[in-house]
Amino acid sequence: MVRLCGARNRNGGQCQRVACKNGRCMNHGGKSTGPKNVSESGRLAQKMGSWKHGRYSKETIEENRMLRDFMRSSDSFLRQIW
Ligand SMILES: [Zn+2]
Repeated sequence: MVRLCGARNRNGGQCQRVACKNGRCMNHGGKSTGPKNVSESGRLAQKMGSWKHGRYSKETIEENRMLRDFMRSSDSFLRQIW
């Protein structure tokens, strides 16, 4: 069974995109924005190259948290201008 995201959208409806494991689609906080594909960026490849049993996971968590804060603030910003 395919679950839908269901996040409220600007039209008062619900987001119809397919949800990730946590119940939200990619645009609504579904997936981690952390490393996905080593070949995606040189910087990421560098980082993954030195990855050893979670040594940098704390740093990554912090990075994701900051990214989430940024996403949240840009989201409310977009709501203001739209
Ligand atoms: Zn959604």
